[in-house]
Amino acid sequence: MSKDSYEQMLDAVREFHAKHDFANTGGHDLRFRVALMAEELGEISAAVTKGKGKECLSEECADLLILLLGTSIAADFDLNDAFWAKMTRILERKGKIVDGILRVSDFES
Ligand SMILES: [Mg+2]
Repeated sequence: MSKDSYEQMLDAVREFHAKHDFANTGGHDLRFRVALMAEELGEISAAVTKGKGKECLSEECADLLILLLGTSIAADFDLNDAFWAKMTRILERKGKIVDGILRVSDFES
């Protein structure tokens, strides 16, 4: 199995959801999913701020990615399309130094 295919990653997450019947057991509840994503973001933060190392950071980022892919399944949207639509807009943005750190954002809104 190629590790580079978005579709294969999405299929693996679909298989995980089907295995546990998330669609009928609460696993697709968006409030629950947001809570899980916040939990993983906290674990990413701890990996950095507690100096847990790259292996821990990569695992926690993978957890969040899996949840994001799963959320696209639960909420029935195409995350691949959303990624490229947003990335295209982000690449056109300008950067600005804010408190000594470069911030690339839509500063109009
Ligand atoms: Mg985790």
